[in-house]
Amino acid sequence: MTRNYDVIVIGGGHNGLVAAAYLGRAGKKVLVLERRHVLGGAAVTEEVFPGFHFSVCSYVVSLLRPEIIRELDLPRHGLEILPLDGTFTPMPNGDHLWRMSDHSRTRREIARHSSTDAEAYDDYAKAMVAMARFVKPILSMVAPDPFSLDWTGVKDLWRMARRFQALPRGDQHNLIQLMTMSAADLLDQWFETDVLKATMSASGIIGTFLGVRSPGTAYVLLHHYMGEIDGAFRAWGLSRGGTGAISLAIAGAAREAGVEIRTEAPVERIKTARGRATGVVMAGGDEIDAPLVVSSLDPHRTFLRLLEPKTLPDDFVEEVRRYKLRGSSGKVNLALDALPSFKCLPGPGPHLRGAVSISPSVEYMERAYDQAKYGQYSRRPYIDVVIPTLTDPSVAPPGKHIMSCFVQYAPYNLKEGSWDDKREEFGDTVIDTLSEHAPNLKDVILHRQVLTPLDLEREWGLTEGNIFHGELSLEQLFFLRPVAGWARFRTPIRNLYMCGSATHPGGGIMGAPGRLAALEILKDFQRGVA
Ligand SMILES: Cc1cc2nc3c(=O)[nH]c(=O)nc-3n(C[C@H](O)[C@H](O)[C@H](O)COP(=O)(O)OP(=O)(O)OC[C@H]3O[C@@H](n4cnc5c(N)ncnc54)[C@H](O)[C@@H]3O)c2cc1C
Repeated sequence: MTRNYDVIVIGGGHNGLVAAAYLGRAGKKVLVLERRHVLGGAAVTEEVFPGFHFSVCSYVVSLLRPEIIRELDLPRHGLEILPLDGTFTPMPNGDHLWRMSDHSRTRREIARHSSTDAEAYDDYAKAMVAMARFVKPILSMVAPDPFSLDWTGVKDLWRMARRFQALPRGDQHNLIQLMTMSAADLLDQWFETDVLKATMSASGIIGTFLGVRSPGTAYVLLHHYMGEIDGAFRAWGLSRGGTGAISLAIAGAAREAGVEIRTEAPVERIKTARGRATGVVMAGGDEIDAPLVVSSLDPHRTFLRLLEPKTLPDDFVEEVRRYKLRGSSGKVNLALDALPSFKCLPGPGPHLRGAVSISPSVEYMERAYDQAKYGQYSRRPYIDVVIPTLTDPSVAPPGKHIMSCFVQYAPYNLKEGSWDDKREEFGDTVIDTLSEHAPNLKDVILHRQVLTPLDLEREWGLTEGNIFHGELSLEQLFFLRPVAGWARFRTPIRNLYMCGSATHPGGGIMGAPGRLAALEILKDFQRGVA
């Protein structure tokens, strides 16, 4: 076995691969070690049933940083993003709400429910775009460290303060509200239509163990608003071939830069000597040395499992233990013989091409959370449905369909019983809920895959099943992610870096943590401190 690597990257999810690609392109000899048989982590495509290629975990893309697409030339490595248009929300009274990217049609649709809301929608969209423009550069910068007197950090903080000051007063106010309020309370200030507020607030709870009325969810709403395809805020898309195709395109760029990638290569331990990372020990006992190790795993796995706690300062370990993962989501992937037909708008049609959101009222959403708070999965959950085959038929056999159902809430810790016993019951609940709106669904299901937070932990290494490697709550963002004072990808162990979703700017198929980490590592190489 060769042992002359400059860098070992633990984990072949998209962030690990992005970091490896940038380091490889800078001339470093990089080895990526991935535990599973397939690359991509939570951005993965797998043929779960013959002919059906599921985006098993993540299913839509928008946050992927344009600079990464450009710098790694991902389209040349096979990346193709197909736009996904609209969100269709069926209502129990037989009506529906259907928002599209065509602004004037959406306005007319909202006016059907409330002319006041149609007016407000324009102003709201403008306000959110202004907020997204303010926050977006933060996704591409290393978080300043207010806990040190490092001059660059102070300069960055000062620049941000100046940018904030330069905002019109109304935008300053909106930004503070977004940072502190609940999604539902924020939307109450703008709109009166319940179903509109419910559907919009759903973006505020994705991946969090919070309800639409919990403070802090307005920011998550903005986080999801920031996606861009060709520069259009709030646009989501599908990757041709599933989300795994994104990871494979990044892996292609990494390999082209000379990176070696191994699958079925679980790392058991990070080796250290005199406070410095020196390599890894594999599950079989093999050791691979390198002067620098980068972990794309969450802080619980990296610091509490792969390292001996005594190698780390006690207060740091304490902070890592406090870091909140608390998975709250599940996924049900269906292979279908035909399309579902919704009672409120029967038959096939463009309304099925975007997302279908089961979020009929704010009360429905909050009640779904109530059950999770007390350790049960939601009996009537929020479900975000996408039928990728309507945009990319290549992922299923001709004439067949895939229905991807992202579900909340599915708390990792159940009050009674175990997820192993409740998995199928949970799957039934999701299908029953959907069938209330699309009665033909049960007749057209060929196969189903039900993923609980426990499955996400066991199979994808997502601790407590948290889809973002840790909640996107304010106390875990920016210079606090994952631990105050350690938000700049470095760790208390010299030459051990982090580069996954648990680092700034957080989860989602974004690649930003991987890229920023690599750029910081390269700076340390240049300064001779790595
Ligand atoms: C159900 C679900 C739905 C989601 N939906 C979306 C969505 O639609 N859009 C979106 O943008 N985001 C979505 N996300 C979030 C997004 O997928 C993740 O935030 C992102 O993919 C995480 O990327 P990562 O590279 O940071 O980590 P990961 O993808 O978790 O990669 C870490 C890798 O490390 C490997 N690993 C773990 N332990 C070891 C070890 N000891 N040795 C070697 N390798 C190891 C894992 O197998 C994994 O491949 C979703 C996530 C889930 C789970």
